[in-house]
Amino acid sequence: MSEDYYDILGVSKNATDAELKKAYRKLAVKYHPDKNPGDKEAEDKFKELSEAYEVLSDKQKRSQYDQYGHDAFKRAGGAGAGGFGGSGGFHDPFDIFSQVFGGGGGGSIFEDLFGGGGSRQSTSSNGAVDGDDLRYDLEVDFEDAVFGADKKIKINRMDSCKTCSGSGAEPGSKKVKCSRCAGSGSIVMQQGFFQVRQACPSCHGAGEIIEKPCRSCHGEGLKRTEKNLQIHIPPGVDNGSRLRVANEGSGGLRGGRAGDLYVFLHVKPHDVFMRDGNDVVCEVPIDIATAILGGIVEVPTVSGAAKLKIKEGTQNGTILRLRGKGIPALRGGHRGDQHVRIIVEVPQNLNKKQKELMEQFAEESKNSTGIINPKIEAFLKKAKKFFKK
Ligand SMILES: [Zn+2]
Ligand SMILES: [Zn+2]
Repeated sequence: MSEDYYDILGVSKNATDAELKKAYRKLAVKYHPDKNPGDKEAEDKFKELSEAYEVLSDKQKRSQYDQYGHDAFKRAGGAGAGGFGGSGGFHDPFDIFSQVFGGGGGGSIFEDLFGGGGSRQSTSSNGAVDGDDLRYDLEVDFEDAVFGADKKIKINRMDSCKTCSGSGAEPGSKKVKCSRCAGSGSIVMQQGFFQVRQACPSCHGAGEIIEKPCRSCHGEGLKRTEKNLQIHIPPGVDNGSRLRVANEGSGGLRGGRAGDLYVFLHVKPHDVFMRDGNDVVCEVPIDIATAILGGIVEVPTVSGAAKLKIKEGTQNGTILRLRGKGIPALRGGHRGDQHVRIIVEVPQNLNKKQKELMEQFAEESKNSTGIINPKIEAFLKKAKKFFKK
């Protein structure tokens, strides 16, 4: 299968987990083999959907898919290339389906089909809620992307309240049994023909409610805090690379785990260099005498100046390669090259002597033994009939 996973699910590359899940749910119900008995096409589509969802719903797999595409899965077990721990294969599509729709506290298929629920936070039976993932956009210099760097960033986020450890209850205060669900943590709702068991909205499934809210966080369990973090940027990252910093997202509630922080890198354009994957592209103008006679020119590279040999008769637009002078590969492997595009500059504002020399050159060209302007010769041959008088 080669189609893009985002296209399969019909979502954008920036789709949130909730959007992914929603898209998968909608399509998986449509193509489920129970609904399309004997329809091979629907079955294949169902498998594709499950595969796409399995990858994109997993933060780590998604990040690797974004970087390497389908290759990420073929490299499983490869030399540190970021495969998926050798497992390689995919789960049974019905497994994925039941994970997304199945019971297990996270809402049932009926809630999904009839639009119940609505909270995208995972709420476990003790009322713990995991924190949200956060995004931070970081602008980095071209050189930092090439060679890596450590950057300090300041993030503003909701952290678990230290006073009450995220419980929301004033230390020393008691919790009381929730009256709405009589302490069971769930209530039964009627939806059409179905009775659906849902987490109790009063106690969020905990079965108890706080008697006295924590004064520090007003019972929220979370407090806005500012945190300084040091972000390590590995060498070879590119514009759009995404770094995951585990557990530095928003804090969890009532013992829920913290979310992760995703740092999206934006590489500033460079004055001289452009990037093409792991190669660097750079335009270098040379004077006409060097282009004609050949010589050595100094060119900039990401790791300092390098000498480049210009051959006699070098044409405008010639591309010369400096092997191994490009970007280090992100996870080891071969370093890229630098491609130098030669721009031959025609001189302007010549003085009298220079003009005389050019006239002499033109005159002397009549005595040439070889063809000195092969393009002009070839063109005149082809265009001869236009010039007949
Ligand atoms: Zn608190
Ligand atoms: Zn309750």
